[in-house]
Amino acid sequence: TGAKLELHQAPEEILGLATAFNEMLCRLSGAWEQQRQFVGNVSHELRTPLTVVVGYLQSLSRRSTNLSDYQQQALETATAETERTIRMLQDLLDLARADTGHLHFRSQPLVLNTLMAEVTAMSQKVSNRTIRLLMTEEDVVVCADQDRLQQVLINLVDNGLKYSAPDQPVDLVLEQTQDCAHIHVCDRGIGIPLSHQQRIFERFYRVDESMTRSRDGTGLGLAIAKSLIEAMNGRITLRSKPQAGSTFTLTLPLWKAPHDSSYPPSRR
Ligand code: ADP
Repeated sequence: TGAKLELHQAPEEILGLATAFNEMLCRLSGAWEQQRQFVGNVSHELRTPLTVVVGYLQSLSRRSTNLSDYQQQALETATAETERTIRMLQDLLDLARADTGHLHFRSQPLVLNTLMAEVTAMSQKVSNRTIRLLMTEEDVVVCADQDRLQQVLINLVDNGLKYSAPDQPVDLVLEQTQDCAHIHVCDRGIGIPLSHQQRIFERFYRVDESMTRSRDGTGLGLAIAKSLIEAMNGRITLRSKPQAGSTFTLTLPLWKAPHDSSYPPSRR
């Protein structure tokens, strides 16, 4: 029958299709790789001259006397915007490295209680805002890169502070279930509408420019947080309600001590 004939012809056609498809895939991933390398190189190359520019702007601001309000304002804006661009380039560089698997991780057993206490103290000092820490008495241990996890946590706490009123606290909560550690960062801020929640972890995605534009940021923080936490075998999730607040949760597998190991691991 016609159907049988088609079946006889199919393998050759499928083979042809598969070859064309594979070629296409190969070219695409080559182009993708080139694009990542390009972004990485450009970020790297631009950072150095911009750092020099910031240096000059700062020294100009320090040495100049009798500046008019306009000149003072212009210098401050130029410095702040250049510093923001440098941060963005560093973020892009980190993302490009994460994409190509070149981001260096030093994962080791880590007591989250200690790390969270440090992050709370640090953020509180810098922001002068109330950050409440709630955690279990017992140590919660995961296998993670301490500096990278700290970077993610600071970023989430910063966002919590940035997108809520100055008199509102941010809560850091640590709990553990049978196999996982959960870190919640909760704020009572502007919240994120459901329609944006899917896209919030995309690069450069910011909810409403009119709402967020006035707040310093690059739109890369959550993309980096997701990329870093996934590289540590964890995940990041979000629950949020507009005008009520947001809770970002980091979930990481618990570290299981090998029978012959000495416990506890380094508490720094
Ligand atoms: P940004 O530098 O803009 O803060 P992020 O990647 O950290 O970049 O966040 C992306 C966007 O997600 C923000 O611009 C903001 O619109 C939204 N967002 C992030 N965290 C919060 C939060 N805690 N509350 C409300 N909106 C948030």
